[in-house]
Amino acid sequence: MTKEYDVIVIGSGPAGYVAAIRAAQLGLTTACVEKWVDDENNTVLGGTCLNVGCIPSKALLDSSQKYIDAKKEFHTHGIKTSKVSIDIPSMMERKAKVVTQLTQGIKGLFAANKVDSLHGVGTISDNNEVFVLDAKGNSDKYLAKNIIIATGSVPINIPPAPVDNEVIVDSTGALEFDAVPERLGIIGAGVIGLELGSVWGRLGAKVTVLEALDEFLPSVDTQIAREAKKILGKQGLDIKLGSKVTGHKISKGKKKEVTVTFETKGASEEITFDKLIVAVGRRPVTDSLLANDVSIDLCDRGFIKVNEQCQTNVPNIYAVGDVVRGPMLAHKGSEEGVMVAERLADKKTQVNYDLVPSVIYTHPEVAWVGKNEEELKAEGVDYNVGTFPFAASGRALAANDSDGLVKILADSKTDRILGCHIIGASAADLLQQVVIAMEFSSSAEDLGLTMFSHPALSEAVHEAALAANGHAIHIGNRKKR
Ligand code: FAD
Ligand code: AMP
Repeated sequence: MTKEYDVIVIGSGPAGYVAAIRAAQLGLTTACVEKWVDDENNTVLGGTCLNVGCIPSKALLDSSQKYIDAKKEFHTHGIKTSKVSIDIPSMMERKAKVVTQLTQGIKGLFAANKVDSLHGVGTISDNNEVFVLDAKGNSDKYLAKNIIIATGSVPINIPPAPVDNEVIVDSTGALEFDAVPERLGIIGAGVIGLELGSVWGRLGAKVTVLEALDEFLPSVDTQIAREAKKILGKQGLDIKLGSKVTGHKISKGKKKEVTVTFETKGASEEITFDKLIVAVGRRPVTDSLLANDVSIDLCDRGFIKVNEQCQTNVPNIYAVGDVVRGPMLAHKGSEEGVMVAERLADKKTQVNYDLVPSVIYTHPEVAWVGKNEEELKAEGVDYNVGTFPFAASGRALAANDSDGLVKILADSKTDRILGCHIIGASAADLLQQVVIAMEFSSSAEDLGLTMFSHPALSEAVHEAALAANGHAIHIGNRKKR
């Protein structure tokens, strides 16, 4: 007899596995379908984030930061090192261990919460039916009262630089180099391009980033983006803006290299690299997902069309994570997964799309939430700006890590915090306290009246909040707009 579930989730990335666990916690019979397999044909849970995204990239960012600290920083603390060298296979092995620990952890969570793990490609064969076909050709059909699509995204490939997984790679290939390329090209100065550029730049590659747009990080507050470009430039990343890649040629010799052609200010230029990373964005995955007679509406760029509650045009079918509109971020997908699971259990959960935090895990980190100055100006909102530089933070100076600043934007009439933008060490963690404050509709004064431990990097957040009302104790600045 065909097995029936209350919920079948398709995809086990951070949107899908979290949705499945929450649904099961709420007493709904739940299965999660995943097609990803390892070399031995075992199901691999966790999706892009755990396997080839957030986690492995952060493992390499942390390893490479330790390397560069040992090489360039330790001596400032009086620590003498004779010769610091890098062992890439060991670094990769550590990264793989972290990934395996976490992906196995999801298997454990599924078992503990009684989520059935179904292995294979999931296709919605009817509004209440999922067909699952595994790599060996075995198939099964399952009935579902509700279906949650969480099929995620994959890297975009562009015709001028098609990935060959040898010289030209995407983000997945860039997490697997077996040696440090001498000359590394990156197409795209987005979050992924900058993080991967930082990893290999710290390990010794000469990194050139080619970005088609004239503006650096256009969605980031301009003051913070400018600061980021300056600091990353000092670290050796050669970021060429207004440089659109139009073609490439791979040499035929023994040692393959790639010569990239790009248009810049009307002229055509070329640079030769040992490796080229294509990091021009990601596209939603809906391949093999829908049988012919299932009609779920898509948006023009291939995303599944959903309402605020992540419901598609078919009322019992939902979609969450990278496969729907909004920023392609793991935590945004997870919160959508929780919302849908809770709504299926008759709760009235919502996602606050105005408060999705964003982070670029370079060093220093760049993190932001809410509105930036350019957006507030465009909306005609009067606001105060409070900034505080880490150069005036005792804790940042003690750590010899004092680049950057915290910036808080508050409504000039109500003092409600409208946005926070940070570039600095541990910016992701520092930002979170402002996200919480904003979730509770805090004013800058509320944050200013809160006691912060001394000495801590978070004091910079405190001082920026005080500065928004013109009374930072140390060196903070206030601007009225
Ligand atoms: P995915 O994680 O893509 O998972 C989708 C899953 O569905 C996959 O396992 C896939 O195999 C499976 N699937 C697809 N179709 C089917 C089907 N028909 N049947 C069965 N299974 C199917 N985000 C952050 O928030 N922070 C970061 O630091 C960060 N760093 C990143 C670094 C890199 C290098 C990359 C590439 C991404 C990074 N991201 C980061 C983005 C993050 O990985 C994604 O936003 C997140 O993984 C999306 O989650 P998801 O569950 O929607 O989809
Ligand atoms: P993101 O979408 O944040 O991952 O960033 C991808 C970046 O790649 C964007 O800033 C694009 O402008 C950039 N990009 C896309 N195509 C090209 C191209 N052919 N040459 C250079 N940059 C590109």
